[in-house]
Amino acid sequence: MASVRQDRLLSEFEALVTIDSVSLKEREMADYLKEKLTELGCEVEEDDGAQAAGGNAGNVIARFKGTDSTRSPILLSAHMDRVTPGVGIRPVREGNIIRSSGDTILGADDAAGIAIVLEVLRMLRDNRADHPDIEIVFSFCEEKGLLGAKALDKSKLRAKLGYVIDSGGPVNRVVVQSPSHITLDVKIKGRAAHAGVEPEKGIDAVQVAARAISQMKLGRIDDETTANLGMISGGRATNIVCDLVEVRGEARSMSREKLERAVASIQETFQESCSAAGAILEFGSEIEYETYNISPSSEVCQRLRKAGEKLGMEMHFVSAGGGSDANIYNAQGIECVVLGAGYFKPHTLEEYLDIEEFVKSASLVYEVVVA
Ligand SMILES: [Zn+2]
Repeated sequence: MASVRQDRLLSEFEALVTIDSVSLKEREMADYLKEKLTELGCEVEEDDGAQAAGGNAGNVIARFKGTDSTRSPILLSAHMDRVTPGVGIRPVREGNIIRSSGDTILGADDAAGIAIVLEVLRMLRDNRADHPDIEIVFSFCEEKGLLGAKALDKSKLRAKLGYVIDSGGPVNRVVVQSPSHITLDVKIKGRAAHAGVEPEKGIDAVQVAARAISQMKLGRIDDETTANLGMISGGRATNIVCDLVEVRGEARSMSREKLERAVASIQETFQESCSAAGAILEFGSEIEYETYNISPSSEVCQRLRKAGEKLGMEMHFVSAGGGSDANIYNAQGIECVVLGAGYFKPHTLEEYLDIEEFVKSASLVYEVVVA
């Protein structure tokens, strides 16, 4: 059985995390990856999706030719950007673990995913194993609204199934279900008045918002649905009756219907409170991404199970509360699950990479594509 070259995988990982690549500033990363993919014999292109998004690098799309062009191609994807503080990352190895030097994230989310894809291509090249065409997407700006995947022209891809390597936790935990996600932007328009001289002439937007919010069911609404109002702002001075409050929030659900019901209920509650006080409600909602739910009997999961068996790994198919590029690919008809890359505590200064899990993930992805 072909094995992962751990030294090569780790040195690629270190090279990747030391390239600065926060969201919408992935230029250097994209150039580096285009060079590596070209060296590996891929046909490489970069799209112009970043222009509309205000970024400096587009999606990097590559094709690695298979040994048998009659087999259906497979998509492998990971994202190039990372969250802040993610500039000047200095990875530190401690035994089986790689962490940051403490003042930044590590950026294994998702440099580990990229390193795994590159290692798998190197293994295929060295071992001359049979495999279908592999399509690779390294997306930009995943962390802020999945902008890269959303901008990708899917007609550039032939794959009907794929693996997004972008999940924390143990490698045998495979995300097959993720919610729909709607963001909310609510404005409550009251009326300003002097708070000491003629408060009765005002309509206090703070109070209108407070009355509404205090009556809402938020947090975990049911076993498939959550809602959160995470930001609130408003007011200009303590001596002015507040004429504008802005509330921003979100709702998520595995069920589109339940999601719509939760959002409608939030809107109604704001509306009732506004109407009672004579305030005006502006209620904005926007779908960020759609839910998916991949059956464990689908080919994308069967391949994983088979690959796992070969490696003595039992796969667990789970649902996740967050979204990823897989939501976008699935909505476009490419059946995708999300695989762990071996990192833990992403988006924190304590983020770390478990080398053993990282290597296992690379082995798993290799076996999946040669299966
Ligand atoms: Zn990620």
